[in-house]
Amino acid sequence: MIKFLMTMLLAAASLPGFAALQVFATVPEWGALVREIGGDKVSVFTATTGLQDPHRIQARPSLLAQARRADLVVATGAGLEVGWLPLVIRDSGNANIQPGRPGYFEAARFVTMLDVPVVLDRSQGDIHAAGNPHIQLDPRNLFRIGEALANRLAELDPPNAQAYLAGYKAFAAKWQAAIARWEREALPLRGVTVLVHHQSFVYLAHWLGLKGVGTLEPRPGIEPTSGHLTALLARQENTPAKMVLRAAYQSDGPSLWIAEKAGIPAVMLPFTVGGTPEAGDLFGLFDDTVQRLLKAIH
Ligand SMILES: [Zn+2]
Repeated sequence: MIKFLMTMLLAAASLPGFAALQVFATVPEWGALVREIGGDKVSVFTATTGLQDPHRIQARPSLLAQARRADLVVATGAGLEVGWLPLVIRDSGNANIQPGRPGYFEAARFVTMLDVPVVLDRSQGDIHAAGNPHIQLDPRNLFRIGEALANRLAELDPPNAQAYLAGYKAFAAKWQAAIARWEREALPLRGVTVLVHHQSFVYLAHWLGLKGVGTLEPRPGIEPTSGHLTALLARQENTPAKMVLRAAYQSDGPSLWIAEKAGIPAVMLPFTVGGTPEAGDLFGLFDDTVQRLLKAIH
C-alpha cells in the first residue's frame, strides 16, 4: 500500500503542469510577470482579463475557489482591487494569503507612485485616492517589482529559490534591451499632447514624455458627460491635443466623439497583456503600445 502511494505521489509530481507554487494574480500584467520569472515552477491563475475594467471586478465564487488554493496572491494594491480582493481573501479562509503574510504581495509598494492626492476627497468618488495605480505602463517599474517578486517566490518555495532568482535575471536582461529599443522608437512621441479617457496612462506618459492635456472623465471613475466633453473640445483651440487615448476595456463612444469633432485620431491601447491580440505577453504589450502611438502621429 505504501509503495502504491509512493508511486502515485511520484506520478503526480512528474505530471506536466505540476507546479510547486500556485499563484493568484489579480490582473494580467502580474500574471505575465510571474510567468516570466517562475517559468514551469509556478502555476498562475489570472483573475481578470485585459478586456475587463480592473476597478470594477465582482467577487465571484470562482475567484474564491482559486484564492483558497493559492500560495501567493499578487495584486497591484494602491486601492485598485479594493472593491473585491479584500472580500475574496477574507472569505477564502486561506491564512497564507492574508495581507501581511508572505503569501500576499502588492506591486505598488515597490514603485514611486504618481498623482498621490494632496487633499483627499472621497466624497467625489475618486478611485485613485492612494495615487494612480496603473503602474504597469512604465516598463522600468517592472525591475523593482520583478526583483521583489522573485525574492518572494524564493521565500515561499526555497527548493526552487535559485530558479526564481535566475528567472528574474534573465527577464531583466531581456527587459533592459527591450526598453532601450522602445525608447529609441518612441523618440518622436516626446512632447506629444494627448487627451485620455481615464487616467490610465500617467506612467506611460511619464516614461515616454507624452503630455496629458485633459481627461474625458470629469473625475477618475466618473463616466464622461456631454458637458465635460464639450468643454474639452473648446479647449482644443488653446491647448490642442494630438490624439485621444483609451484602454482596450473602455467604451469607445466618448473618445470617438471628441476625435471626430477635433479632427484627431482616437487611439486604443492594450493597457495590459491581452488587451489586444498583439499584446500576448509583456514584451508584446509595449511593442504594440509604442507602435499604435507612432501610427497616430504619422
Ligand atoms: Zn484608474
